[in-house]
Amino acid sequence: MLNKINAKDEIKKYQQVILNLICFILLMSFGKLMAQTIQPIRPLDLKQVVINDPFWTPKYKLWNTITVNDVFDKLEGKYIPDRKDLIEEQKKLGKTRNAFANFDRVAKGEKDIKIHDGPPWYDGLVYESIRGAADLLVKHPDAQLQNKIDGYINRIAKAQAIDPDGYINTYTTLTYSNRRWGTNGGDDKWQHDIYNAGMLAEAAVHYYYATHSTQLLNVAVKMSNYMFQQMGPAPKNNVIPGHGGPEEALLKLYYLFKNNPNLKKDIAAPVNEQEYYSLAKYWIENRGHYGEGVNSRKSDSSYNQDHQPVFEQKSIEGHAVRATLLATGVAAMAIENNDQRYIQTAKNYWNNMIGKRMFITGGEGAIANGERFGKDYYIPESAYLETCASIGAAFFSEQMNELQADGKYMDEFERVLYNNLLSGISLSGNHYHYENPLITQNHPRWAWHDCPCCPPMILKMIGALPSYIYATDDTALYVNLFIGSKATTQLKNGNAIQIQQVTNYPWKGKSSITINPATAKNFTVKIRIPGWANSKENPFDLYHSKVNQQVTIKVNHQLLAYSIENGYVAINRKWNKQDIIEINLPVEPRVVTASDSIQTLNGKIAIVAGPIVYGIEALDNPELDSYSINASTTLQLNYKPNLLNGINTITGVAKTANNKMVNFTAIPFFSIGNRNISSPYKVWMLNQK
Ligand SMILES: [Zn+2]
Repeated sequence: MLNKINAKDEIKKYQQVILNLICFILLMSFGKLMAQTIQPIRPLDLKQVVINDPFWTPKYKLWNTITVNDVFDKLEGKYIPDRKDLIEEQKKLGKTRNAFANFDRVAKGEKDIKIHDGPPWYDGLVYESIRGAADLLVKHPDAQLQNKIDGYINRIAKAQAIDPDGYINTYTTLTYSNRRWGTNGGDDKWQHDIYNAGMLAEAAVHYYYATHSTQLLNVAVKMSNYMFQQMGPAPKNNVIPGHGGPEEALLKLYYLFKNNPNLKKDIAAPVNEQEYYSLAKYWIENRGHYGEGVNSRKSDSSYNQDHQPVFEQKSIEGHAVRATLLATGVAAMAIENNDQRYIQTAKNYWNNMIGKRMFITGGEGAIANGERFGKDYYIPESAYLETCASIGAAFFSEQMNELQADGKYMDEFERVLYNNLLSGISLSGNHYHYENPLITQNHPRWAWHDCPCCPPMILKMIGALPSYIYATDDTALYVNLFIGSKATTQLKNGNAIQIQQVTNYPWKGKSSITINPATAKNFTVKIRIPGWANSKENPFDLYHSKVNQQVTIKVNHQLLAYSIENGYVAINRKWNKQDIIEINLPVEPRVVTASDSIQTLNGKIAIVAGPIVYGIEALDNPELDSYSINASTTLQLNYKPNLLNGINTITGVAKTANNKMVNFTAIPFFSIGNRNISSPYKVWMLNQK
């Protein structure tokens, strides 16, 4: 009996060992599979790319001159208020608000005076604008603008110099100076201390890159060193950013010094870049961990993604700008540490955002109250859709592409770029949208806002955009965007390559890309084929559409038989000087319908051509409220050089409520509201039965 039991035990033991072995093998192969999904690629250095494009070059001319100066001037208080709240404020204060006056007050030693111009994150908006302007300066040197920014940086540095710790946050110092980072009864979600500090670090890195000036970098290093001393596991303070963004920013500071160790000797404070990496990691991983005793903080909400540990968060929740910027930081960290938990969390966020919550214009954040993501499939036409949230989502998508090299990420980047981003700024370059709903009766752009966060965010994205057109890994060159440009780059295993792209995208589908290697070499060129060009409007079928024409690709005028893998066509061959790739995308108008899961869009259609979503404005369509359109109606695409700085319009026939057939004209969503600021518009129209 005893032996029998022993024998059974032995069998059980063996079974257990075999089972463990199987589990181990499964886990290993699963781990391997997961690891294989990582394919880091790098966008090009900003200095390596020059845009020369009929669509984008005129916009950059405007943004480099009008917009960038407009934003700084208005931050200085040079604006005529055109919104009720700011008109009232000007009457009450007898002046407009000036973000730089705050730095001057702090520099004079003022404290707790309960006077501060603008919201607590006004410092942050100054830094964000400097970051955006720095990138623009790389492509468009402007001594006057640079002098202006140097003047601002002097004032910022003076404000920091007064504090022995190197702490700088004008709102907190001028209101409740003992509440740094939201401690002692404060709240960093409102104060934005860490957010502002993160934007400072980012601005300093970008401004150094553009100008080689270290003055702002000195300020950022001192502040970041102080944060590292103050925040972390006990006995340090248990604090996390009330607003996402600083995670990626501190990684940028880390990379700057990791890649340029000699720079440390030029900095007026000690630099240990590992501290910036650790701090960013702590900020991410400490969410949802509230600590105990002296190192504890209040449990918090999904508003700033602090409702549970980050790696347990399966969906993207809360304030949409905070969420998308945190998600960008998680993806950026994954590139550096290759940690599966980070990769999986970034994917969870992205899949949920793009698969269940995204608007057709790339808008994110359905709900005005709390500026939040709505529940899955809650996609009302009158949604909030802050410009900053969609740009945050675009930065996140681009970062995901850096992590995994899949064209679907750049598809969604591009959706934001041509729609919700461009709609955030007027064609005159000095008026802006905060919300970007898909239907409205009266929605004028403004000169300046009580919370003017969107103009600096626009500057950040347009500044960075040239570097996102191409990317590389060790063996391949990626063409991610169809923007006329010249670029030079070098593959790890190859020689220098020059690329020249000529295109009329997004109005026309043809792009010619000349590949010029220094000497003939074998390498791969990967061209992104947008999902919509293959009748895949959304990677998760949140939206549907069908194009009738095929994508064609020619190499040296010969048609290429291709297959698409992970959103790219890979062309591997020996490239010679002047080899030319011609790609033709079907930018014919197409009708988009939404998934049945989106109840508010049942029975409705939208009109899209290439990456551009169209809408109808009352100016062209007086009876737009009653329009219904037959999904199979003929849609005519016409280029109008004199309309709205040159746009394609789409015309067709609609039926009104009393069965009258009328011609309708649709214009790009981004160009709406530029002829008559209060003209009603809509994107989704009833599908005629
Ligand atoms: Zn904003």
